[in-house]
Amino acid sequence: MAGLLKLEVVTPVKYVVSEDVEIVMAPGTLGEFGVLSGHTPFLTSLKPGRINYKDSSGKERTIFVSGGFSEALPDRVTILAESAERRRDIDIDRARAALERAQQRLAEEKAENISFERAKAAMYRAIERIRIAETKGM
Ligand code: ATP
Repeated sequence: MAGLLKLEVVTPVKYVVSEDVEIVMAPGTLGEFGVLSGHTPFLTSLKPGRINYKDSSGKERTIFVSGGFSEALPDRVTILAESAERRRDIDIDRARAALERAQQRLAEEKAENISFERAKAAMYRAIERIRIAETKGM
């Protein structure tokens, strides 16, 4: 088994996770990547999606991340996220309401407007939050 590495996920308003983990998978803008202890250092931006990791007892966990940056070092992964929540902290009713608002805006806006792009991004965030929240046991 590979050694543990420290995963830290922070946003401008909160500390989401600080724990020792076996492996981290994250949604890089160039594709999903995985980090184990001893990884070569690298820095990448993140797109909206999910961070999956195995905690020190081997349990799989999921965090929603809306985008940001990740720095991997041999003994740690630091994620600076725009917003992020652990699966259990996702308010599914709030995400459903956000999805409805986004769909409403998409129906009203023209595709070339910036508000259309914003609504698309909000819709994607809401769908991903709902999917994660509906997945059992992570
Ligand atoms: P909303 O319209 O509901 O605010 P959003 O996608 O615009 O959704 P973000 O800008 O990504 O929200 O996040 C703003 C703050 O609210 C962050 O701190 C984020 O963690 C929190 N947040 C957003 N949606 C949820 C949710 N469904 N459950 C828990 N926290 C949430």
